[in-house]
Amino acid sequence: MVRATRLVILGKQGAGKGTQCVRLSQHYAVPHISTGDMLRAAVRAGTEFGSLAKSYMDKGDLVPDDVITGVVSERLAEPDAHQMGFILDGYPRTVGQAVDLEKVLLPLEIDLVLDLVVPTELVLRRIASRRVCKVCGANYSVQAPPKLDWSCDNCGGEVVQRDDDTEVAVKRRLDLYESQTAPLVEWYTEREKLVSVQGEGDPDEVMARLIAAVDRAKGQPKW
Ligand code: AMP
Repeated sequence: MVRATRLVILGKQGAGKGTQCVRLSQHYAVPHISTGDMLRAAVRAGTEFGSLAKSYMDKGDLVPDDVITGVVSERLAEPDAHQMGFILDGYPRTVGQAVDLEKVLLPLEIDLVLDLVVPTELVLRRIASRRVCKVCGANYSVQAPPKLDWSCDNCGGEVVQRDDDTEVAVKRRLDLYESQTAPLVEWYTEREKLVSVQGEGDPDEVMARLIAAVDRAKGQPKW
């Protein structure tokens, strides 16, 4: 049987995690589990949970740890993630969530944490230009728009700026990243799980760096 691959990706908002995770998930044949995408899907579906999540997301605040851990643990228990592994994007985002994740996975554990490193000036530029389909959540940007008149290439939905990509909410999210999420770099380094990858440059080159880092780790005896 093929050994599962269990990855976490860290990086500021706009570091390119979403784009790279789609590719990594194809390369390693594991599901891409993005908590931001899951929460946005709940908002679009108009569920009670979605409207609770939206009240935090629009301000750039974090959804409470117990709420998000409940959602993630249900998803990780599904057969695809359980058997093949996963790439987790946007979770854990606090040390509390990382501790919760350890418990959720027992007796298994995360294989590797990829920290995608990009300077703040660059992420601010990327966030200002990014756009998303209101219906299916597909990602675009001002530089790479849909083919036709801001209608999604996949579903024809309207492509707009994200509700939480306002200047105030973005600043709040980046501040929270520094105070709540950046400490995870040290936390996972102490557990010998972390590898930092330079996230600037051509997306194909960044992808090659990420794959090289994962394959290097896969070659270690403890994998
Ligand atoms: P993202 O697409 O990862 O930037 O997430 C968008 C928003 O969803 C965040 O600003 C938070 O409000 C919420 N969110 C996503 N993941 C988490 C998480 N692990 N913990 C708390 N809130 C989260």
